[in-house]
Order: sequence, then structure tokens, then C-alpha cells
Amino acid sequence: MKTLLTGGAGYIGSHTAVAMIEAGHDVVIVDNYYNSSPEAVRRVEQITGREIPLYEADAADKEVMREILKKEMPDCIIHFAGLKAVGESVAKPVEYYRNNIDTTLTLLELMKELRLTNFVFSSSATVYGDDNIPPFTETMPKGACTNPYGWTKWMQEQILRDAQTASAADEGTPELSVVLLRYFNPVGAHESGLIGEDPQGIPNNLMPYISQVAVGRRDHLTVFGDDYDTPDGTCRRDYIHVMDLAEGHVKAAEYAAGNKGTEVFNLGTGEPYSVLEMVEAFGKACGHPVKYEIGPRRAGDVQDSWANADKAKEILGWEAKRGLDEICRDAWNWQSKNPNGFNA
Ligand code: NAD
Ligand code: UDP
Repeated sequence: MKTLLTGGAGYIGSHTAVAMIEAGHDVVIVDNYYNSSPEAVRRVEQITGREIPLYEADAADKEVMREILKKEMPDCIIHFAGLKAVGESVAKPVEYYRNNIDTTLTLLELMKELRLTNFVFSSSATVYGDDNIPPFTETMPKGACTNPYGWTKWMQEQILRDAQTASAADEGTPELSVVLLRYFNPVGAHESGLIGEDPQGIPNNLMPYISQVAVGRRDHLTVFGDDYDTPDGTCRRDYIHVMDLAEGHVKAAEYAAGNKGTEVFNLGTGEPYSVLEMVEAFGKACGHPVKYEIGPRRAGDVQDSWANADKAKEILGWEAKRGLDEICRDAWNWQSKNPNGFNA
């Protein structure tokens, strides 16, 4: 199967490219390098020993994407391309709605035109909002999001659902297969240490922040609140190894190729860890304690978020295999070998 990965030079896309190739599929990547570098794709080629067709393009640019899709005619599109920084989305909502929604609309228009049918989308656990109580199951109603980034995911899910429904009703177009993947907290890196998460500027997310403290790029972590109603007072999340997540995409793309309709799957482990548990586990992996201070709560944070991951296991035959030790080991391996990310 040939899969086209928009945003395939990014963190999750590059790891998925490795998993796809290892599962025997072909990969084509489209990225505008807004938040990534072609070096990541060169490293994927190094890991897999395969040359990957790579296009520098904006996935919202219809003319350019038409030519790429006409040339490649992929069996499945996996749409990673998007802006993803929660705080930035509050400051730049229009840019977030424009980029995230436009890319999806462009791809849907071109899929209809070129009679392409299979689509896998990077959604997020953030669509459960803060009304639902974990573990989150796919049948729960979507909640109210706490920031524009979350709303873009919420809206893209709806757009894709509606397009699928219309395609099923229209005899003139082939029926779409849409798989919505709700990621929990992707962390870790490929075990080679050649690819990993490389945030620009000050990391917003916990794991890259911890890694940068551990490697000496930052002085200490600020823990955002220790007065939550949890055993140690800090928030709990479902941290999933990025290679487990990547393997979930292989299963999802294979599922999309064999089924019609819209399906939603949580990709998580089902097991929550607190911020302080993550700090401690990372300290063990890197061989020294990670310095931290307790600070105030961060606006918009939910206390608890973790998956019920049964559906992906039952239908896709997928479950996360790597635990917290592997997560911290691989994150540290990547960070210590590439202290300045791909720019080293
Ligand atoms: P990332 O920023 O590393 O990767 C996204 C890639 O898309 C980048 O390489 C960027 O350059 C590219 N891109 C952005 N806009 C583009 C456009 N218009 N045209 C072409 N390329 C474009 O982020 P990631 O962590 O790999 O996330 C991938 C997807 O998963 C995103 O849609 C993100 O919202 C979603 N997601 C991520 C997380 C997470 O915690 N990392 C959680 C849930 C969902
Ligand atoms: N967190 C923290 N300090 C940081 C970054 C994050 O204490 O510098 C906490 C944050 O409050 C949350 C958890 O770590 O409870 C995971 O945050 P992240 O931003 O990685 O993921 P999300 O909140 O989107 O699930």
C-alpha cells in the first residue's frame, strides 16, 4: 500500500514513516517544514535503508497538492500536517483555524476529484474536553475544548464525518473511509536515537521540557500545580510511546483500506501517570534527578486524561507494548545523542 503522509517530517509523522516502511508499505512525504526539517526524513531513510519521495509543499495549496496527488495516487492519506501549540493557538487563533482546517478541506476536495478514498486523521484526546471523566471511550460525546487548537481538531473531525456521510449517499463518488485517531500524550523516540521530538524554542510539553533539563539546556522544570485531587496532587496523563502510536497508524491505514465509513479510535495505553511520576522515572533513565520546582496551575489544564484503549485492540488488533521505562530510555537516548535536536 502507498501512503502519503502530510506533515511526515514532523515528530509523529517521521516515526510513522519508519513503522509503515517496516510493515512493508510505501511512503511519500509532504511537508512545508514550518515546524520540522528535512533532516528528519534523511534520518528515516537512514533507519529504513529506503529512499522516500519528499515534497516541500503546503498541504493547503490546492494546485500544488493536485499535482503531487495525481503523480503519486496514494492508497491512503495520513494527515498529520497542522499547527499544534495550545498556547500559541490562543494568541493566533485565525492562523490555527486557517492552517488546520484549510489543509483538511483541500485534501477532501482533491480526494473527491481524483477518486481517492482512504483517509487517516491525527485527532487528539483534547476533543473529550473537560466534562467527561476518564477513562475516555470513543462513544462519549465530544466536550467543549479549552483552546482554539482543540477546536480545530473538533471541527476537522466533524468535517471529515460529514464528507464521509455525503460520499456514502452520492452514487457518483466512491465512498470514503475515514479513520479518526485520538492520540493521548505521545512521548519517547525511535530506539535508534536518530529521530525524536525537536520542539522549537521553549518546550510547551512535559517530556521535552524534562529532557532538556536533564541534558542541561534548561535549569529546572516548573510543575504546574500540586494541589489537584490526585494521589500526589499533580495532573495525570496517558503517555504513549511514539513508536506504539506509529504502529497504530499502520493498523489504521490498513483498516481504512479494507472498510468504509467513519471510525474513531483512541490511541493510548489506558494507564495514567502523574507529572511527578514522570519526573522520577526520567531521573532513573538519565542517571540523575531532574530538578523541579512547584509552580501555579497552568490555565486550561484538565486534571486527568487517559484512554480506554479497548476499541483499538478489538478492531485494529493494536495495543501499546512499550511502558514507562522504554519511554524514558528512548527519550533520553534521543536527547543525549542530539542535545540540540536536528540542528546539532
Ligand atoms: P509536528 O509539528 O512535529 O508535525 C507537524 C508537521 O506538519 C510539521 O512537520 C510541520 O512542518 C507540518 N505542517 C504544518 N502545517 C503544514 C502545512 N500547511 N503543509 C505542510 N506541512 C505542514 O507535530 P506532531 O507532534 O508530529 O503532530 C502531528 C499531528 O498530530 C498534528 O496534527 C497534531 O496536532 C496532532 N497531535 C499531536 C499531539 C502531540 O502531543 N504531539 C497530540 C495529539 C494530536
Ligand atoms: N506540565 C508541567 N510543566 C511543564 C509542562 C507540562 O507541569 O513545563 C504538566 C501539565 O500541567 C500537564 C502535564 O504536564 O499536567 C502534561 O502536559 P503536556 O503539555 O505535555 O500535555 P497536555 O497538557 O496537552 O496533556
